[in-house]
Amino acid sequence: MGIAEKILEIRSKLPSDVKLVAVSKTKPNSDIMEAYNVGQRIFGENKVQDLTAKYEVLPKDIQWHFIGHLQTNKVKYIAPFVSLIHAVDSLKLLKMINKEAEKNNRVIACLLQFHIAEEESKFGLSMAKCEEILKNPEFKALKNVQIAGVMGMATYTDNIEQIKGEFKTLDSFFKSLKTKYFNEDQAFCERSMGMSSDYEIALEQGSTMVRIGSTIFGERVYH
Ligand SMILES: *Cc1c(COP(=O)(O)O)cnc(C)c1O
Repeated sequence: MGIAEKILEIRSKLPSDVKLVAVSKTKPNSDIMEAYNVGQRIFGENKVQDLTAKYEVLPKDIQWHFIGHLQTNKVKYIAPFVSLIHAVDSLKLLKMINKEAEKNNRVIACLLQFHIAEEESKFGLSMAKCEEILKNPEFKALKNVQIAGVMGMATYTDNIEQIKGEFKTLDSFFKSLKTKYFNEDQAFCERSMGMSSDYEIALEQGSTMVRIGSTIFGERVYH
């Protein structure tokens, strides 16, 4: 099956209000255009340099999502155009995104990344750390970032119950933040969860945004 067919097949399985982020990292522009030509407009990249290079030459109505770990010193390169930053897990990063967004006269949408997997990782917030950020007056003063929801990655395992439990946890974090901090805020609505191997489970647990790479574009080859 080609890229176009894969996109259409996945689309047919997604509820109409769930967004598909086609994760095009490491893939050539010609692959992205195959997806674009069947209507795909949201693409995800995890390297700043690749993202800016692709942004420059590809159609301007593509919505570029940054899905990887973002270093503060690189925010400036994507701030002029990025449409959503998925993996924000510190106040320091939020402050930098705010600063660069302001320079570009923009408000940049961000998701708070939670650590929900069993695997050790230096990335992703706990609920306590997240609330520390949201309660901080420095956060409340930021005018050029908009928190659009939460993001998380489940453990890489074939234990479906475990994956399900982790996505359920992320959904419960979302609901509790919504009630406590974003009740009036329509923009806080996304749960970015689910990749090639687990997006069907994520959908059952309330995902509003799935990030799918290898199922669409084939296995990645790293050089
Ligand atoms: C690479 C990546 C994906 C897509 O992974 P696949 O298994 O290829 O679908 C999704 N989310 C993040 C954060 C990624 O880095």
